[in-house]
Amino acid sequence: MTEPSHPGVAPDQENAPPHEAPRHIGRRGFLRGAAALTVGSLSATAELARPEAQPAAVPEAAGAAAELEEQTRRALRWLGRDPADWVRARSGVDHNVVIVGGGQSGLSIAYGLRRKGVGRVSIIDRAAPGQAGIWRTIARMHQLRTPKTLAGPELGNAALSFRAWYETLNGAAAFDALDRIPRLAWADYLDWFQQATGTTVRHGTRLVEIEPAGDVLRLHLESNGVRTVEVTRKLVLANGYAGAGGPNLPDFVRALPPQVWTHTTGTLPVDALDGKVVGIVGAGSSAFDAAAVALENGASEVHLFSRRAYIDYPAPPSPQPAPPPDRGYPNMLELSYELLDVVRWRNFLLGDRRVASVPLDSIERAIAFDDFHVHLNSSLSDVALSGNGRISGKVGSKRFRFDHLIAGTGYRIDLTAQPELARIHEHVALWRDRYRPAAGEENAAGANHPYLGPGFEFLPRAGTGADFLRNIHCFNLAGALSFGIPVGDVPSVVDQPRLTAAIARDLYVESVDTAAHERFVDTPLVAPSAAPYERAVVTRAVA
Ligand SMILES: Cc1cc2nc3c(=O)[nH]c(=O)nc-3n(C[C@H](O)[C@H](O)[C@H](O)COP(=O)(O)OP(=O)(O)OC[C@H]3O[C@@H](n4cnc5c(N)ncnc54)[C@H](O)[C@@H]3O)c2cc1C
Repeated sequence: MTEPSHPGVAPDQENAPPHEAPRHIGRRGFLRGAAALTVGSLSATAELARPEAQPAAVPEAAGAAAELEEQTRRALRWLGRDPADWVRARSGVDHNVVIVGGGQSGLSIAYGLRRKGVGRVSIIDRAAPGQAGIWRTIARMHQLRTPKTLAGPELGNAALSFRAWYETLNGAAAFDALDRIPRLAWADYLDWFQQATGTTVRHGTRLVEIEPAGDVLRLHLESNGVRTVEVTRKLVLANGYAGAGGPNLPDFVRALPPQVWTHTTGTLPVDALDGKVVGIVGAGSSAFDAAAVALENGASEVHLFSRRAYIDYPAPPSPQPAPPPDRGYPNMLELSYELLDVVRWRNFLLGDRRVASVPLDSIERAIAFDDFHVHLNSSLSDVALSGNGRISGKVGSKRFRFDHLIAGTGYRIDLTAQPELARIHEHVALWRDRYRPAAGEENAAGANHPYLGPGFEFLPRAGTGADFLRNIHCFNLAGALSFGIPVGDVPSVVDQPRLTAAIARDLYVESVDTAAHERFVDTPLVAPSAAPYERAVVTRAVA
């Protein structure tokens, strides 16, 4: 799956020009970040990655932090306490729910479960504190690609929204002046959201393997090199865009030695790019952002290769009311699951065919450099490492030579390639098991997506009897076909109540003690003393 476009990427109609995206930057006029000199490939995993450049922060208004604290305290008091944990404890079980991933999805799901009174929820994240999610690591754009006014993980509680946080700290005028949300402000907001909702994440803890054991799951975890097993009733995979198969890598990239290429999910070797020629495969937003970072770090030339004939970008704001976006309406995720398979399949085909939209500021950031070159209708072929350690490749008869290649080629959905699923993937129902497309509508990538149930749960393939799969809820990009939008995006986080409702329902139904109900029905009711109303009683017997 190539990198999805983010819904509603068009500039926010409410607002004015960008507030901090640097424009017309001199070639070397950009401060270098403190990125690691990690070269190449997927060994540089996101959790180890560090940002290559940081936009400036907005200074906070004096006393704003204290005001925010007081405002949040008041809002939470008005909301009322979290309901008590009603889930009946079960012996031999450590957790009711384990959430893998402490990014925006994991945090929001944890908050949603708490507000439903589901206790014993544990969140793990393999990343170090402050490094969960993508915003301080592999995301390279200055601003989010989605509009600033979208609802986020706050689940309708306005006091916990980005806007409340940002306006209280910086003033309403500062929010109005934003084009879109600065990336690092979003990262800081998520940290605050975690703190305000009192959510604990067990950092440095990786899910290694899932072992089914009857109707519970034994999770093999690794923390500081130590392996442990914990038992849970439910598991939520909120493990990010790369969480259902990893990065999508063309074979010709994979065949090169790892030190000469980087997928955009890895850490760019920024300190080694000075004076170097960089090739970029792919033309989505991440490809443009990586191009800009390479140029800002001194690359002498960057060549970006697009298979398509044009680069798509959101239409500029117009005085005419914009037509409603096809995916941006509030209940999208909730509703699109209900569509017929044929409609969901065709929506996917449409998305697959579309050219991914790149925000204009990402294009402008790269275009500001004279040494940035876009090659349209151009697929690299004949790619190989030459004797001098450079990469050579051809488009038609024209040969190019690079010092480093960046793959901005998105993500793939392939459960067989996801290490944590090694024991179970063969039982998971995929779209190819459940839906036969009409002739001419086949799509191998779509056929590989899991066919998810209404609560994002994996479903067993017919005849496998693997009912334990219903306890694994897949809240990542693999839900894109079943739910109609890239799951994990900010707009999808808003709509995850479907997931928390399914978890609560399953735990509730499973917890019901039918024997206790029977005993209750069979026990005669004992009338309490009539003393409080005795004086007014005139009739005791029915005539
Ligand atoms: C470059 C980029 C830019 C994007 N920009 C936007 C945007 O502007 N607007 C928008 O709406 N969406 C955007 N998205 C999509 C989406 O919002 C982000 O991917 C977002 O980070 C998804 O949040 P998440 O919590 O689902 O996953 P993540 O933020 O990726 O968090 C997943 C977490 O799971 C952890 N994890 C993974 N595997 C394991 C394991 N085995 N054990 C323990 N922990 C594990 C990781 O360490 C990580 O912290 C963007 C995506 C990318 C890649």
